[in-house]
Amino acid sequence: MDRAAPSGDATNAASPPSFSIEVAAATTARSTFVREPARCGQMPVRLALLAHLRGMLSLLMEKVIIVGSGCAGLSAAIYAARANLNPLVLEGRQPGGQLSTTTLVENYPGFPDGIDGPQLIINMHDQAEKFGARFSYAEATGLELDNKHVRIKADDEWLETQALIIASGASARYLGLENEDKLIGHGLTSCATCDGAFYKNVPVCVIGGGDSAAEESLFLTRFASKVYLIHRRDKMRASKIMADRVLANKKIEPIWNTVVTKYIPDEKGEMRAVRLRNVKTKEERELAVACVFVAIGHDPNTKAFAGKLDADREGYLIAKNLAESKHPGVFIAGDVADRVYKQAVTAAGTGCAAAMDAERYLSELER
Ligand SMILES: Cc1cc2nc3c(=O)[nH]c(=O)nc-3n(C[C@H](O)[C@H](O)[C@H](O)COP(=O)(O)OP(=O)(O)OC[C@H]3O[C@@H](n4cnc5c(N)ncnc54)[C@H](O)[C@@H]3O)c2cc1C
Repeated sequence: MDRAAPSGDATNAASPPSFSIEVAAATTARSTFVREPARCGQMPVRLALLAHLRGMLSLLMEKVIIVGSGCAGLSAAIYAARANLNPLVLEGRQPGGQLSTTTLVENYPGFPDGIDGPQLIINMHDQAEKFGARFSYAEATGLELDNKHVRIKADDEWLETQALIIASGASARYLGLENEDKLIGHGLTSCATCDGAFYKNVPVCVIGGGDSAAEESLFLTRFASKVYLIHRRDKMRASKIMADRVLANKKIEPIWNTVVTKYIPDEKGEMRAVRLRNVKTKEERELAVACVFVAIGHDPNTKAFAGKLDADREGYLIAKNLAESKHPGVFIAGDVADRVYKQAVTAAGTGCAAAMDAERYLSELER
């Protein structure tokens, strides 16, 4: 009977079993041992078969899947690939992430003359691929977590992985107006820290009335000749201290009860003006601005993971110790868990941390 005891344990030992097939195998093995305790002579054969099955299944299982190919996902891919983990990157609907939508990036370390966002992303992609990362355009659409196992649905196919890195980013909210996609990076942006310095001594506008809009407006006064703060209500939603600062700043001119109804580009496709409508009087007018900063919030891309991991009220995932989730083997990186900094370099930093944590986790599993 000594050997019968490991029947249940055997399924937990060594490398992690995969879900359905392994569970079926384990159930068969366990019931056999329970029903036929006297036939111990056959057990080594069955255990060997189980071990063999487990070996086969671990070949089918991914070591590391990374969701997202922005700065966080690609940095994680570089680190995981260099650690020989052969990661699979699910790129989702926006391969390259947010940086692929912008033009010059001047604050990513290592590029004193700046670098185009898409080029920076191509470089990271090539670097990850060179070390063995694999890429798929699939989108993560579901997640199943059970004990040590992780299953991720890539489009319609369930994949099993020992470690998962979620780097699915956050999407800035825009207004949904005509030409929006074309104008992003050409006078339309959602990031004052990123793009403010490009608009020196010209008028710009910020859309929004919350703390982000207040913060962005104040930051932009360092560069712009004038900052119009366009808000659909008659006062700010921001905290009192931020609202007071905005209202006290002579460079900022609030335009209340007003919405932007149209972006007006010049002949080169750069933002030249916006069309405004007063929601109370219905009066319309044009306002000349060189850049529109939309500050109406972000939506973290976490639909596929809803309810499975800790998240705050707005859906941002909650990471502890930089990149750990509450579930063993699941790590988090980049803007999907960052409601504060939202920068390429911070996303890359947490991508690195997530991959190093995943590598450590896998080493522990193998012991
Ligand atoms: C216009 C603009 C200009 C910017 N300029 C700068 C700058 O100059 N300097 C700077 O430091 N930062 C800048 N930023 C911010 C910077 O781009 C972000 O902080 C950074 O891209 C975050 O990286 P990330 O990898 O966390 O997420 P993202 O870049 O958002 O990438 C998310 C990735 O996840 C994928 N994804 C999402 N959901 C799924 C899913 N369900 N399944 C599979 N994949 C999924 C997406 O397809 C994408 O590949 C700018 C942002 C914008 C929008």
